[in-house]
Amino acid sequence: MSTEIAKKKGLFDWYFKSNLLIRIFIGLLAGIFTGIIFGNQIAWLQPLGTVLVSLLKMIVMPVVLSTLVLGAASIQPSSLGKLGVKILIYYILTSVFAVGIGLLMGNIFKPGMGLNLQGSADIAGKVIEAPKLSETLVNIIPSNPFGAISSGEVLPTIFFALLLGITISILRENKDKRIKKSVEVLYSVFEALAETMYLIVNWVLQYAPIGVFALIAVVFGAQGAEVIGPLGKVTIAAFSGYILHTVFVYSGLLLLFKMNPASFFKRARTPIITAFVTRSSSGTLPVTMETMEKNFGVSRNIYSFTLPVGATINMDGTAIYQGVCAIFIGFAIGMPLSISQQLTVILTAVLASIGTAGVPAAGAIMLLMILNSIGLPMEAGSPVAAAYAMILGIDAILDMGRTSVNVTGDMTGTLIVAKSEKSIG
Ligand code: ASP
Repeated sequence: MSTEIAKKKGLFDWYFKSNLLIRIFIGLLAGIFTGIIFGNQIAWLQPLGTVLVSLLKMIVMPVVLSTLVLGAASIQPSSLGKLGVKILIYYILTSVFAVGIGLLMGNIFKPGMGLNLQGSADIAGKVIEAPKLSETLVNIIPSNPFGAISSGEVLPTIFFALLLGITISILRENKDKRIKKSVEVLYSVFEALAETMYLIVNWVLQYAPIGVFALIAVVFGAQGAEVIGPLGKVTIAAFSGYILHTVFVYSGLLLLFKMNPASFFKRARTPIITAFVTRSSSGTLPVTMETMEKNFGVSRNIYSFTLPVGATINMDGTAIYQGVCAIFIGFAIGMPLSISQQLTVILTAVLASIGTAGVPAAGAIMLLMILNSIGLPMEAGSPVAAAYAMILGIDAILDMGRTSVNVTGDMTGTLIVAKSEKSIG
């Protein structure tokens, strides 16, 4: 009896103490084998997958709201001088390029084509109408922000959150002490909310291996082994995008500003590798800062502003990933994205990168928001949920590459700004 309890405890302990990344991957593999072996008989596992889908949906809007408000509120308007404007322009332009490259790779590799994932009976027949880009743009201003948040409308929520964040950042520097003090409280509330949400995200991810196992088993049970190819294609498409962006955009910009890309990559390799293994640009920040100072001689007053802001709002790798994955999901459910949906992806992914925290898997949560904005919400039992689970199963691999690109982008931007300000040693 007591040994039985000990055994149970051992398994429980192993589950929570082992590496999450490995567990999710084991969930994926176990799901693949279970699905292939048992075929359609395994459909009863669906509710376990539905739990994961609901948990993820539950956190999307609170995460978006709190992290975006905080992201915008953390940029001090007083530091938004010439330096701030330069780096923000760089961050936004490179992000637009990044999503573009992601979409291009998606359109070239066409991952997910021919998969034709089916949902369970209740959702399968539902026709999803994609909103037009012009409508999306006009509707970006919410007539009722609380309504937008509660009904999960992404772009109006982003609009409101950014406005709120920017206003908070302005009022934090107000001369009137009373206003300043009360706005600090509001800032702290959002900070607390964001921290709380990150912890909940972590807990939800603890369940992810089981949810991914169930969702994948059901997909493989219904589709068989031909699902492996598309996942390989997503990985190849995403990594091709990461490499292209690094070679063309970053090296091109460095050359434009008379810096040698080869020597850049040599001197910048420690943060790039750290980002790859930790999958967190925020976690890599101390290494990135040290490298900028020691290996490149960038002055502290530049990198101390550009790097933390970059780690919070500049996510080129994540943008590439989102472009590729949005295309994948479109193909996988047999509804390839229209041009106007792809343009909406560009708009949303650039904005989403502001709200993507520099922590592992944050981009995968933000992907849900992008799917919402193109009329592909993730409903339990829907083909979108099945396709999303497939990507989540390999998120660790995709996240390593995108985090490296995110950090490389922050460093390139910092160097360009430092060079243009003539403050590089
Ligand atoms: N892990 C990424 C980063 O820290 C964010 C993401 O998940 O896309 O930069």
